Amino acid sequence: MTVRNLFLLPGDGIGPEAMAEVRKIIAYMNEEKGAGFVVDEGLVGGSAYDAHGAAISEEDMQKALSADAVLFGAVGGPKWDAVPYEVRPEAGLLRLRKDLELFANLRPAICYPALAAASSLKPELVEGLDILIVRELTGGVYFGEPKEIIDLGNGQKRGIDTQVYDTYEIERIAGVAFELARTRKNRVCSMEKRNVMKSGVLWNQVVTETHKAKYADVQLEHMLADAGGMQLVRAPKQFDVIVTDNLFGDMLSDVAAMLTGSLGMLPSASLGAPDAKTGKRKALYEPVHGSAPDIAGKGIANPIAMIASFAMCLRYSFNLVQDADNLETAIANVLDRGIRTGDIMAEGAVQVGTVEMGDAILAEFKTL
Ligand code: NAD
Repeated sequence: MTVRNLFLLPGDGIGPEAMAEVRKIIAYMNEEKGAGFVVDEGLVGGSAYDAHGAAISEEDMQKALSADAVLFGAVGGPKWDAVPYEVRPEAGLLRLRKDLELFANLRPAICYPALAAASSLKPELVEGLDILIVRELTGGVYFGEPKEIIDLGNGQKRGIDTQVYDTYEIERIAGVAFELARTRKNRVCSMEKRNVMKSGVLWNQVVTETHKAKYADVQLEHMLADAGGMQLVRAPKQFDVIVTDNLFGDMLSDVAAMLTGSLGMLPSASLGAPDAKTGKRKALYEPVHGSAPDIAGKGIANPIAMIASFAMCLRYSFNLVQDADNLETAIANVLDRGIRTGDIMAEGAVQVGTVEMGDAILAEFKTL
């Protein structure tokens, strides 16, 4: 029987509440579909700090490194605001991204028809929206050196960040975008600022060359990142896959996210390079939202972002495409029936809590 190793890191705040709903789906898939998930669980963020004095223990890091996929909830909260910088809750997530070498961040922006009215844009602009932003996650200005504040000695200081990309970093993120486009509408739009940035010139060249050499069947377009931001709110449905660097991706994926309604709806995946022997990519799946301390423990968090992250895991780590499709359809059908958590509540809908939403999605999933 296939064994699929999953490592769960529920984290803090609403993380464990949302993860509990995914656990039910895993149990069902094991019992009824022989999915063969072997599940282990660890601590990350504030909960890990309380137990081990670190944002993730070495033992849990090893488990994350050897798992087929990591499911991550959320970290942080006011309880840990004053802990030392190196062991703050977010350090656990950054360590995971770094050690697993997760260079490709996938942020889908899907607008469920039932939620089109909740978008800040006109419903006809977003209904049926399905775009995927592929953001480079381990390079660029967030990591480039020098990165410092220097004292100029004349009462002035200078803050420096360095935007830097090497060819291989652009090639591999472009490769991920082109490959994903082939499973979708076969279109990639690459965004940079080649008009004012040397790293943008190189980005544009390398994406163009990678396309020509290996992915000429995919339709490629280039757009300046500022124009891209404008187009995202003007006519978002023109896009299929957008590939961009760490900084622009950070902003553009948040813009795209808000086209679709609540933070509680947004999944993400972060992928590493394929293993030379097995061909499998290291992967971590997590909702975009944080630990929502304001609603933690109340049983009202929306578990959809976490469940949709698990659907991405089924698709990208285990190639269980039909199950992933069914789980996403189950979410859409439940929303269509007017079942809502508080964050996406609308007039005439039925408001439910975390557990009821999870149960409704699982019940629907079982029928598909
Ligand atoms: P947040 O995403 O936790 O919450 C923002 C708002 O959205 C809150 O009002 C919250 O109640 C609501 N919200 C978020 N997820 C929801 C859900 N699933 N269902 C219903 N409502 C939801 O962001 P924040 O308030 O800026 O940060 C809170 C804590 O989370 C901080 O400690 C922050 O550092 C941390 N954080 C962690 C991550 C992560 O773990 N990846 C990401 C962002 C923030």
